[in-house]
Parts: sequence; structure tokens; C-alpha cells
Amino acid sequence: MAEGMSANTIRCDACPVLCYIKRGQAGACDRYANLDGQLVRVDPLILLERAKSQGAPLVPFLKREGEWDGKLLKGKETFVTAIGAGTTYPDYKPAPFIVSSEAEGVDLVTVVTEGIFSYCGVKLKIDTDRHLGAERNFVRAQSEPVGHVTTAEYGSQMLSIGGVHHLTGGSKREGRVTCETLLDLCNGKEVELTIDDGANIRVAAGKPPVVNGHREERMRVGCGSAAIGMFAKQWFGKVDDVVVVDDHITGVLSEHQAGKMLGVRETGIAIKGRRSTPGRYFQVAQPGTGWGGTNIADPLTILKPFKAKLAWPKLRLLMVSTTGEQYAYFELNEELRPVEKDLPEELKESVERIRENCEPALATVLFMAGAGGSLRAGVTENPVRLTDSVKRSVTRVTCGGAPAYIWPGGGITFMVDVTRMPENAFGYVPTPALVAPIEFTLKKKEYAALGGHMDYVRPLQDVLKENERQRQVTPLPENPWPLKPMKPDGSEK
Ligand code: SF4
Repeated sequence: MAEGMSANTIRCDACPVLCYIKRGQAGACDRYANLDGQLVRVDPLILLERAKSQGAPLVPFLKREGEWDGKLLKGKETFVTAIGAGTTYPDYKPAPFIVSSEAEGVDLVTVVTEGIFSYCGVKLKIDTDRHLGAERNFVRAQSEPVGHVTTAEYGSQMLSIGGVHHLTGGSKREGRVTCETLLDLCNGKEVELTIDDGANIRVAAGKPPVVNGHREERMRVGCGSAAIGMFAKQWFGKVDDVVVVDDHITGVLSEHQAGKMLGVRETGIAIKGRRSTPGRYFQVAQPGTGWGGTNIADPLTILKPFKAKLAWPKLRLLMVSTTGEQYAYFELNEELRPVEKDLPEELKESVERIRENCEPALATVLFMAGAGGSLRAGVTENPVRLTDSVKRSVTRVTCGGAPAYIWPGGGITFMVDVTRMPENAFGYVPTPALVAPIEFTLKKKEYAALGGHMDYVRPLQDVLKENERQRQVTPLPENPWPLKPMKPDGSEK
């Protein structure tokens, strides 16, 4: 791989940076080093190993370097991931490992490489109702723009981080900080982000997000309207009206279809904002980090005066947020104005039930990238055939053994949940770009048919013997075994 420059220096050609590396030192990415004049991949090759019979994980997560002689263990199956496999550049060279193995009587080939992705990013799902920032506003790390706020989902705010424009289209510092942010997010580290005219957040994959210093505990039970529908029966007879405050759809029990079906009497309540359908209101306040993702701290600010013809003194009103975190109970006085009182015992359970029905709030990191033309050339001399076989589910794509979702349409654009991958699976090169493991598994005869590098196929046993730096890890039980044959529709057999 390297060409000798002097007795003490070698040149790494695993990426376009082409580092000169002195003896005993590492290259700019810390992935390759000069070990006694030889270019070596610093991190061990990660192998997944499971029991052959039922797929139950048997081997605990252990650092076993130097303990294992590379022999296949009886009754166990081994999958060579691309983590620590190394990169080939330029990619017309075959991938670092093209491994043949057998599963359920079928001869398979797995092409294993650490891809360099200039076109990549992260979709960040943050389970919170709190308003983080307006759609399209910049998301910044270390003051640099590294992404933007994108369309919110049900109970979650969504950020798009990275992508080729931030990696390559801005200043050198913007590219470097974007790459660093992506690397940390993908490797499960906590990252601090600020949103223009919005919140400051701290997020790590699979952990509760922290918004403006407040650690989120609960994801909302649903929108305000859904909450009315879910809990209407529990409120019926115990309170005269309920308002579930939500920035998107605020629900009102007495007007809502759920209340009508139960025979809840009209209360003369009047809500600010835009009425969508009976008992469902949009834009009752501004977005914010207060009640139900609005900017309010006092729920009465969303009420207009009660209609005198319909309301009555002592009318009982519960106002609650979509997570049950905020609530207040009122009774109307003789002037039909709400007066706050202690929450009656019989309503405490219903508020608690809302809280109980909220799932834990988490930050979720999906790595998204395109396996480009050059990476595909490391798999086959005819790259478009690889794309075609992935689309037809003839070839399975995994990242560190974790299942990848392949987008329909052109190219191999994939997404993977980083928490389903082994730890520290990602690296970087200073071009800047992210390095991520990717494996393509297919039947051997199909590999030959798509113009695969058949001369470079090596039996699994040989790969294990030849590579001294290996580490076994237990596959996650929720991941399908990557060598399990697939049905024609791409699902497991
Ligand atoms: S940055 Fe890393 S992969 Fe690229 S040439 Fe330098 S040592 Fe090799």
C-alpha cells in the first residue's frame, strides 16, 4: 500500500491526504501508523461472533487481542465487519477484505471496507415538545454552522446535521467542525449545539436530550387532541372541561368529538388561536419552551372570557400539558373568572396517567450517506450492477453488522441507527470526510455474476489467520444476523 520514502518514512495512500508517516508515528487521522516500516491500521478488526444454533449471543464483550489464535470456534458463526478493516484509495482497487463463508448451506461473499464519505450527515431526532428553533434556522457547533432545523415529527424535533455543503462548501473551519461534530455524534459522544434564535442543546445517541440546561424525561403522550381522545373517559364526571395545551393542536374536551360522544355539556369556554375542527385549536400561543411546546408559563393566557350564556359559577376546569409535567385546576367564580385551586384527588390519577403514558425522551442519531461510484468500484468492476443487486435485495448492506435502510431511487443512499453498531465504529480523514464501515453480503454466484473481484475472495479462515489484530464482540440481539439468507423482498428468511 505504501511506497517507501526513506528508511524512516512511508507514505499512506489510504485516502487523498497521502500522509508521510515517520517510523513509530501515526497519520493525520490516527487510523494508520508506521510500525517498523510497515503501514498498519491502528484499530483492531472487529468480528461479530454468535452461537450457530439459535443465534443467542454467547461471547461477552471482551478485548481479546493476542488471546485468540484465529481459529473458527466450533458451534459459532463469525462475521467480519468493516470496522478496522481499512480503506482502499483510489477505489478501483478491490476492497480490503472480500470474505467467503457459508451459511445454512449457501456459499456467500462479504465485501468489507471502511468507506470515506464526503456526502454524509446525521438525522437527529430529539424527543421533546420544546421549541428548539424555527425550521431552516442554522444549527451551530463551536459557533460554526453544521446543520439546520428540519421538519418536526410527532413529539420530536428534527435536526439535519452535516452534509456535503457544510463539509466542503464553507470555510475550512466549518468543514472541520462539521466533521468533528458528526464523528462525535456517530460514536455516541455528547455534543453541544446551539440553534440560531433558539435553544442550546446537549445530545448523545440513545440518551435523554438536555434543552437549555433541562434534561428531558418524557416524550409527549400525543398532541392535545389525541390526549383528549385517550383520556376523555377518565375525566368524564370528575371535571366539567379540560384543555390540553399543545403548540400544534390544543384540545378542548367539551367541544371535542370524544366529549360530545360522552355527553359532556357545553361550558362556554373560548380559546385563542385558530379553530381547526371542533375541540382542536392551532396557534394558541407562540412556540417556546413552556407548556406543551408553547411560550406560555400561565395557561390562562390562552383563554378568552367564558361565554356568560353557557358558563356557570363553580365550573371545574383542568388545564394540562401533553406530558402531564404542567397542570393547573381552576373553578369559575361568580364573575365567571377562573380561580386556581388545588388539584382534587380524583383528578390526580388522570394527570399521573398522562405522565405514565409518556415514553422516555431520547436523542436518536441516524447516520445517512451515499455509497458512491468509487466505493462501489472496490466491490465490482461494474459498479451499477452492485446498485441494482442492492435494490433487488440480492445484496444485503450492513454497517458494522447493523442493518442499513436503503432509500429507493438511484444510488446506494443508506441510513443506519448508530446505537445498533459496535462502539467507536466511525473515524474521519482530514479532507474532511467521515469514515464509516460498510459491508455488502451476497451469494458467491451472484457476486461472480455482477463482476466481483473473484481473484481476491479469501475464505473466512484465511482472513482470520492473516489478520493478527482482531477483536470479537457479541452482536446485538435486536440485529438480524448479517449472514442469514434474505427472502426476495429483502426480509429475513
Ligand atoms: S489521513 Fe489517514 S488515511 Fe489519509 S493518508 Fe493520512 S494516515 Fe492515511
